[in-house]
Amino acid sequence: MKNLIIDNIDSWKIKKKEKLIIAGPCSAESYEQVMETAEELSKFNVNVLRAGIWKPRTRPNSFEGVGEAGLGWLKEAGKRFNLPVTVEVANSGHIKEALDNEIDILWIGARTTVNPFTVQEIADSLKGIDIPVMIKNPVNPDIDLWIGAIERLNRAGITKIAAIHRGFSSFKQYEYRNVPEWELVVELRRRIPQIPIICDPSHICGNRELLSSVSQIAMDLLYDGLMIESHINPDVALSDSAQQLRPKDLKTLLDNLQFKKEYINDKKFYLEIENVREEIDKVDYKIIDLLAKRRELSETIGKKKKLKKVSIFQPERWNAIAESRISAGKKYNLSEEFMLKLFSKIHQESIGIQRK
Ligand code: PEP
Ligand code: MN
Repeated sequence: MKNLIIDNIDSWKIKKKEKLIIAGPCSAESYEQVMETAEELSKFNVNVLRAGIWKPRTRPNSFEGVGEAGLGWLKEAGKRFNLPVTVEVANSGHIKEALDNEIDILWIGARTTVNPFTVQEIADSLKGIDIPVMIKNPVNPDIDLWIGAIERLNRAGITKIAAIHRGFSSFKQYEYRNVPEWELVVELRRRIPQIPIICDPSHICGNRELLSSVSQIAMDLLYDGLMIESHINPDVALSDSAQQLRPKDLKTLLDNLQFKKEYINDKKFYLEIENVREEIDKVDYKIIDLLAKRRELSETIGKKKKLKKVSIFQPERWNAIAESRISAGKKYNLSEEFMLKLFSKIHQESIGIQRK
């Protein structure tokens, strides 16, 4: 997707060190809450102040944001503490109010990215306006829908675009509020290498405990920044109370993060890893040889089953494969999760081959 014209985050002209750090409450609740939170956040390396003004809530009768009044508080806090400010917009009315109140950066929430009509309405309202827009992933793990939203904004002339990864809803209960599906973001970067990517660990985790490990994974995957919810007194927050951090706890989290670089200037290091990479290449080609061998066997067994009108899928055999491969992997420190994923893929492929 080289045709997308997306600027580097440096073009946003925001003072930052290594990464873009966006922080602030889930929702603006009161003048004092916004001011006090912003003041604390401005004392360390937070680059942008965030707050939700109009809140898309799952169920009615939840706190749905303070509305336009909050824009004034946010702007005043931004000016006083020298921080650009960002809010979520979900329709053209929000955009008008945000622009009237000189909001510096906009973001599109996960519940909006899912709807192409709404995204197009937002894109149309932004024609001719030079403002950075961050686009959260849609709630469902649909990479094309996410890319579609990025394209709609880009076609409207917005070039300061970043993607925010906030995880994906699931019916099943996981340790995460929204499952990260990191590989989907790796794929987004492969398809749009020029897009800055920001991680929102708050909405991935849904609780404070997991925030630092998820933030570190994002840094290890070379994300360009973090958006983390921070509230002066999270226990009384009107939304997302369990996942918000006090500013001082956010500072500790950031101080403990290790920032990683894709390249360093160290010839000896590259010579050393080149040797290891050669070994890895050899192993990969061996794996491909083995997969080719396995493919032949799938074809053979498929023909035999067809002849005798036996079903391709054999549940008992699959259960036995999954169990035995998982326990064989355990001996070599290969995780159960990985073994199951790997052999599910191999098994699915085999079913496909046999069907042909
Ligand atoms: C938020 O950032 O507070 C928010 C509503 O997030 P999301 O769109 O990721 O649900
Ligand atoms: Mn929130």
